[in-house]
Amino acid sequence: MLLEKERSLIVDYGKRLLASGLTVGTGGNLSVFDRASGYVAISPSGLDYENTQPEDIVIVDMKGVIVDGQRRPSSEFAMHSGMYEKRPDINAVVHTHSAFATTLACLECSLPAVHYLIGFAGKEVKCAPYATFGTQELADSACRTIGEDKAVLLAHHGLLTAGADIGEAFMVAEQVEYCAELYWRARAIGKPDVIPDSEMNRIIDKFNDYGRA
Ligand SMILES: [Zn+2]
Repeated sequence: MLLEKERSLIVDYGKRLLASGLTVGTGGNLSVFDRASGYVAISPSGLDYENTQPEDIVIVDMKGVIVDGQRRPSSEFAMHSGMYEKRPDINAVVHTHSAFATTLACLECSLPAVHYLIGFAGKEVKCAPYATFGTQELADSACRTIGEDKAVLLAHHGLLTAGADIGEAFMVAEQVEYCAELYWRARAIGKPDVIPDSEMNRIIDKFNDYGRA
Protein backbone atom coordinates (compact mmCIF):
# COMPACT_ATOMS: atom_id res chain seq x y z
CA MET A 1 0.00 0.00 0.00
CA LEU A 2 1.40 3.37 -1.08
CA LEU A 3 2.49 5.69 1.80
CA GLU A 4 1.45 3.19 4.46
CA LYS A 5 3.09 5.12 7.31
CA GLU A 6 1.45 8.40 6.28
CA ARG A 7 -1.96 6.70 5.97
CA SER A 8 -1.66 5.32 9.53
CA LEU A 9 -0.67 8.74 10.87
CA ILE A 10 -3.80 10.29 9.36
CA VAL A 11 -6.03 7.57 10.83
CA ASP A 12 -4.37 8.02 14.23
CA TYR A 13 -4.49 11.83 14.29
CA GLY A 14 -8.08 11.83 12.97
CA LYS A 15 -9.08 9.91 16.09
CA ARG A 16 -7.06 12.33 18.21
CA LEU A 17 -8.96 15.27 16.63
CA LEU A 18 -12.18 13.70 17.90
CA ALA A 19 -10.80 12.73 21.32
CA SER A 20 -9.40 16.21 21.95
CA GLY A 21 -12.71 17.86 21.03
CA LEU A 22 -11.13 19.76 18.14
CA THR A 23 -13.77 18.38 15.79
CA VAL A 24 -17.03 16.43 15.74
CA GLY A 25 -18.38 13.88 13.24
CA THR A 26 -16.72 14.17 9.85
CA GLY A 27 -15.68 17.83 10.35
CA GLY A 28 -12.22 18.98 9.37
CA ASN A 29 -9.51 17.17 7.44
CA LEU A 30 -5.81 16.42 7.62
CA SER A 31 -2.97 15.54 5.30
CA VAL A 32 0.69 14.60 5.19
CA PHE A 33 2.99 15.48 2.28
CA ASP A 34 5.72 13.06 1.24
CA ARG A 35 8.22 15.31 -0.51
CA ALA A 36 10.23 12.36 -1.84
CA SER A 37 7.36 11.05 -4.00
CA GLY A 38 5.50 14.36 -4.36
CA TYR A 39 2.31 12.66 -3.14
CA VAL A 40 -0.13 13.81 -0.49
CA ALA A 41 -1.94 11.40 1.86
CA ILE A 42 -5.25 13.07 2.81
CA SER A 43 -8.36 12.14 4.75
CA PRO A 44 -11.33 11.09 2.59
CA SER A 45 -14.42 13.22 2.09
CA GLY A 46 -17.38 12.52 4.38
CA LEU A 47 -16.11 9.53 6.38
CA ASP A 48 -16.15 9.69 10.18
CA TYR A 49 -12.81 9.35 11.91
CA GLU A 50 -13.83 6.43 14.14
CA ASN A 51 -14.42 4.19 11.12
CA THR A 52 -11.56 5.36 8.92
CA GLN A 53 -9.00 2.67 8.05
CA PRO A 54 -5.58 3.17 6.40
CA GLU A 55 -7.01 1.96 3.06
CA ASP A 56 -9.62 4.76 3.19
CA ILE A 57 -6.93 7.43 3.07
CA VAL A 58 -6.53 8.87 -0.41
CA ILE A 59 -3.15 9.38 -2.08
CA VAL A 60 -3.14 12.24 -4.58
CA ASP A 61 -0.50 14.08 -6.56
CA MET A 62 -0.06 17.83 -6.20
CA LYS A 63 -2.60 18.46 -8.97
CA GLY A 64 -5.22 16.54 -6.98
CA VAL A 65 -5.23 13.47 -9.26
CA ILE A 66 -5.87 10.28 -7.28
CA VAL A 67 -2.83 7.99 -7.35
CA ASP A 68 -4.15 5.36 -4.95
CA GLY A 69 -7.43 4.96 -3.07
CA GLN A 70 -11.11 4.18 -3.64
CA ARG A 71 -12.56 7.26 -1.95
CA ARG A 72 -12.79 10.92 -2.84
CA PRO A 73 -10.13 13.13 -1.25
CA SER A 74 -11.22 15.88 1.16
CA SER A 75 -12.94 18.76 -0.62
CA GLU A 76 -10.34 21.11 0.91
CA PHE A 77 -7.39 19.49 -0.92
CA ALA A 78 -6.46 22.80 -2.60
CA MET A 79 -5.89 24.39 0.81
CA HIS A 80 -3.52 21.58 1.79
CA SER A 81 -1.57 21.44 -1.49
CA GLY A 82 -1.35 25.24 -1.55
CA MET A 83 0.48 25.18 1.79
CA TYR A 84 2.93 22.50 0.57
CA GLU A 85 3.66 24.49 -2.57
CA LYS A 86 4.19 27.75 -0.75
CA ARG A 87 6.07 26.52 2.31
CA PRO A 88 9.03 24.12 2.05
CA ASP A 89 9.04 23.84 5.88
CA ILE A 90 5.49 22.43 5.97
CA ASN A 91 4.78 18.71 5.53
CA ALA A 92 1.46 18.32 7.34
CA VAL A 93 -1.78 20.31 7.56
CA VAL A 94 -4.71 20.05 9.97
CA HIS A 95 -8.02 21.80 9.35
CA THR A 96 -10.77 21.97 12.01
CA HIS A 97 -13.87 23.94 12.94
CA SER A 98 -12.95 23.94 16.64
CA ALA A 99 -15.38 26.11 18.59
CA PHE A 100 -13.29 28.90 20.12
CA ALA A 101 -10.98 29.50 17.16
CA THR A 102 -14.01 29.45 14.86
CA THR A 103 -15.87 31.90 17.11
CA LEU A 104 -13.11 34.45 16.45
CA ALA A 105 -13.20 33.55 12.74
CA CYS A 106 -16.95 34.29 12.72
CA LEU A 107 -16.10 37.80 13.93
CA GLU A 108 -13.33 38.08 11.29
CA CYS A 109 -11.09 38.69 14.30
CA SER A 110 -7.40 37.75 14.53
CA LEU A 111 -6.18 36.00 17.68
CA PRO A 112 -3.66 38.30 19.40
CA ALA A 113 -0.79 37.20 21.66
CA VAL A 114 -2.53 37.34 25.03
CA HIS A 115 -0.85 34.08 26.15
CA TYR A 116 2.70 32.95 25.36
CA LEU A 117 1.62 29.55 23.97
CA ILE A 118 0.45 31.29 20.81
CA GLY A 119 4.18 31.38 19.98
CA PHE A 120 3.88 27.84 18.59
CA ALA A 121 1.80 29.36 15.78
CA GLY A 122 3.47 32.77 15.44
CA LYS A 123 3.10 36.22 17.00
CA GLU A 124 -0.64 36.16 16.33
CA VAL A 125 -3.08 34.09 14.30
CA LYS A 126 -4.43 36.19 11.44
CA CYS A 127 -7.87 35.75 9.94
CA ALA A 128 -8.04 35.05 6.19
CA PRO A 129 -10.81 36.86 4.26
CA TYR A 130 -13.91 34.79 3.59
CA ALA A 131 -14.25 32.50 0.58
CA THR A 132 -16.61 29.55 -0.05
CA PHE A 133 -15.52 26.20 1.41
CA GLY A 134 -13.80 23.79 -0.97
CA THR A 135 -12.75 26.48 -3.48
CA GLN A 136 -9.43 27.63 -4.90
CA GLU A 137 -10.35 31.12 -3.61
CA LEU A 138 -10.37 29.81 -0.03
CA ALA A 139 -7.03 28.06 -0.59
CA ASP A 140 -5.54 31.29 -1.99
CA SER A 141 -6.93 33.36 0.87
CA ALA A 142 -5.50 30.98 3.51
CA CYS A 143 -2.10 30.67 1.80
CA ARG A 144 -1.78 34.45 1.38
CA THR A 145 -2.75 35.24 4.96
CA ILE A 146 -0.71 32.61 6.84
CA GLY A 147 2.60 34.21 5.75
CA GLU A 148 5.39 32.51 7.70
CA ASP A 149 3.08 31.50 10.58
CA LYS A 150 1.85 27.99 11.39
CA ALA A 151 -1.83 28.80 11.81
CA VAL A 152 -4.51 30.90 10.13
CA LEU A 153 -8.17 31.48 10.92
CA LEU A 154 -10.63 31.19 8.02
CA ALA A 155 -13.38 33.80 8.24
CA HIS A 156 -16.83 32.30 8.99
CA HIS A 157 -15.35 28.82 8.66
CA GLY A 158 -12.59 27.52 10.95
CA LEU A 159 -8.89 27.06 11.54
CA LEU A 160 -5.97 25.71 9.52
CA THR A 161 -2.67 24.73 11.13
CA ALA A 162 0.57 23.46 9.64
CA GLY A 163 3.78 21.80 10.82
CA ALA A 164 6.98 20.07 9.83
CA ASP A 165 5.08 16.87 10.67
CA ILE A 166 1.55 15.88 11.66
CA GLY A 167 2.47 15.89 15.37
CA GLU A 168 3.42 19.56 15.16
CA ALA A 169 0.39 20.56 13.04
CA PHE A 170 -1.91 18.85 15.56
CA MET A 171 -0.13 20.40 18.57
CA VAL A 172 -0.47 23.87 16.99
CA ALA A 173 -4.22 23.26 16.49
CA GLU A 174 -4.56 22.34 20.18
CA GLN A 175 -2.56 25.38 21.35
CA VAL A 176 -4.44 27.82 19.10
CA GLU A 177 -7.79 26.48 20.27
CA TYR A 178 -6.64 26.83 23.91
CA CYS A 179 -5.41 30.40 23.35
CA ALA A 180 -8.65 31.27 21.53
CA GLU A 181 -10.64 30.05 24.53
CA LEU A 182 -8.45 32.07 26.93
CA TYR A 183 -8.88 35.16 24.76
CA TRP A 184 -12.66 34.69 24.69
CA ARG A 185 -12.73 34.29 28.49
CA ALA A 186 -10.40 37.25 29.07
CA ARG A 187 -12.48 39.49 26.81
CA ALA A 188 -15.61 38.44 28.71
CA ILE A 189 -14.37 39.95 31.96
CA GLY A 190 -11.74 42.49 30.89
CA LYS A 191 -9.48 43.84 28.20
CA PRO A 192 -6.29 41.74 28.01
CA ASP A 193 -2.98 43.36 27.07
CA VAL A 194 -1.09 41.87 24.14
CA ILE A 195 2.45 40.52 24.71
CA PRO A 196 4.89 42.95 22.98
CA ASP A 197 6.55 41.96 19.72
CA SER A 198 10.05 41.80 21.23
CA GLU A 199 8.89 39.42 23.96
CA MET A 200 7.08 37.23 21.40
CA ASN A 201 10.36 37.02 19.42
CA ARG A 202 12.09 35.82 22.58
CA ILE A 203 9.37 33.23 23.26
CA ILE A 204 9.50 31.91 19.70
CA ASP A 205 13.31 31.62 19.91
CA LYS A 206 12.96 29.64 23.14
CA PHE A 207 10.39 27.32 21.53
CA ASN A 208 12.77 26.76 18.60
CA ASP A 209 15.66 25.94 20.98
CA TYR A 210 13.40 23.62 22.95
CA GLY A 211 12.47 21.82 19.72
CA ARG A 212 16.12 21.18 18.93
CA ALA A 213 17.12 20.13 22.46
ZN1 LIG B 1 -13.83 23.30 6.85
